[in-house]
Amino acid sequence: MTKVSAALVKEFQSIVSEQNVFVSEAERMAYSYDAAVLEPVMPAIVVAPTDKEQLCKVVKLAYENDMPITVRGSGTNLSGCTIPSAEGNAIVILTNRLNRILEINEQDLYAVVEPGVVTAQFAATVAQKNLLYPPDPGSQAVSTLGGNVACNAGGLRALKYGVTKDYLMGMEFVDYNGNLIKSGSRTVKCVTGYNMPGMMVSSEGTLGVFAELIVKLVPPPKASKAMMAIFDDINQASEAVAGIIAAHIVPCTLEFLDQVTLETVEAATKAGLPVDAAAILLIEVDGGHVQMVEDDAAEVVAICQKCGARSVDMAKDAAHKNKLWEARRAALPSLARAKPTTVLEDATVPRSQIPAMVAAVNDIAKKYALRIGTFGHAGDGNLHPTIMCDRRDKEEFKRVEAAVDEIFDVALKLQGTLSGEHGIGIAKAKWMEKETNKATVDFSKNLRRALDPKYLFNAGKKVL
Ligand SMILES: Cc1cc2nc3c(=O)[nH]c(=O)nc-3n(C[C@H](O)[C@H](O)[C@H](O)COP(=O)(O)OP(=O)(O)OC[C@H]3O[C@@H](n4cnc5c(N)ncnc54)[C@H](O)[C@@H]3O)c2cc1C
Repeated sequence: MTKVSAALVKEFQSIVSEQNVFVSEAERMAYSYDAAVLEPVMPAIVVAPTDKEQLCKVVKLAYENDMPITVRGSGTNLSGCTIPSAEGNAIVILTNRLNRILEINEQDLYAVVEPGVVTAQFAATVAQKNLLYPPDPGSQAVSTLGGNVACNAGGLRALKYGVTKDYLMGMEFVDYNGNLIKSGSRTVKCVTGYNMPGMMVSSEGTLGVFAELIVKLVPPPKASKAMMAIFDDINQASEAVAGIIAAHIVPCTLEFLDQVTLETVEAATKAGLPVDAAAILLIEVDGGHVQMVEDDAAEVVAICQKCGARSVDMAKDAAHKNKLWEARRAALPSLARAKPTTVLEDATVPRSQIPAMVAAVNDIAKKYALRIGTFGHAGDGNLHPTIMCDRRDKEEFKRVEAAVDEIFDVALKLQGTLSGEHGIGIAKAKWMEKETNKATVDFSKNLRRALDPKYLFNAGKKVL
């Protein structure tokens, strides 16, 4: 039984229609968890507005009734930031029906979208107009642009093209009173008022609800070259990463897969990966001039060879490249298939510290007798140590938790950060003070209280 009164259910129905309000146990259960390995919490009600006027009214009504509010796009986040708050009358506001692309401006290179537009569908739509929306998280086939902004999602192209925040030009969001707040614009430059879109990036549903986003588009590159470099020593792979950057070549993709990951992906996909290698790098260079791209690719090959690469295989054509890139995209699903539970971490270190981080993760795996595969965005130091385990095995899971704590400790000691792109949510909130300090946490709480006096927006997430 939902803990929301029948009268209040009716009020929500009168705003969004009966078919967009979910109160049965089975329906609510579907929104009690996300992609993080955390305990589910049942919301009392799930409401799915279909336009921004409805969104404003739903937020206002929920806030007036003291309902803890969790906004949800597709629920693919990995930090528990869409698990409803524990209070009995929690509401999930679903934004996936606010899914219209409102404008694609080919002259001024921007688009206006609703927050529930699916990332890959948006990218494919703008690609038809020969434009590029670069942020490409591994979850892009499902994730929403609103979720991407709230988590500042990155992707394979982040090294050269940046992450979601680099493409956000403006937005409208709903505050706790149900008012529509507008900030940023369709212009390249805009300093009118505070930079509220900047504040909303990475806010993880704690400051307000996005209703509309203005995002930047760029012309696509005219040429690209992709390759796989195979190494027998992880340090050599790392030196190659440093060497490429030191040569002032900025590949659009510079991804790393370690031996455990290679073995697991190969077992799942039979993609022909070198399972006896210590690590591989997947590298792509692109640009506006074919010859420049050829030259960069040749230099990257030379650097990899100088650093000791066993071989560097150039992708013959787009299909060959896609096959290699599919192997990278299959890393998480393959590791996830290996055991019932997958704990995916997001520790990020300065690029030069990748060998130290990978070595530490391997030591931690040995110490706690765990199987950990590490892959990630070598070009930006964003690694994903992934622990394959079974949550039902309580003894093993205690070791997993201890290993995760140590992974964070090492990342911070190496001047890194808790999360490069997956967010803090519930999973990492207890670590916030350790990376920053108490004053920073207090400042964040004050900001939050100013924008959400009753502390109802995603309570228990990000800042405790
Ligand atoms: C297989 C897999 C691969 C992944 N790969 C990547 C990757 O390469 N890079 C990366 O960065 N992440 C990755 N992720 C994590 C995740 O997909 C991203 O964080 C993504 O941005 C979440 O989008 P979503 O629509 O699912 O958001 P949700 O999970 O629904 O929500 C995420 C956060 O956004 C908030 N939110 C959603 N919509 C709104 C809104 N309209 N207004 C205000 N707040 C809102 C929610 O409250 C929540 O705090 C991956 C996840 C999986 C499962």
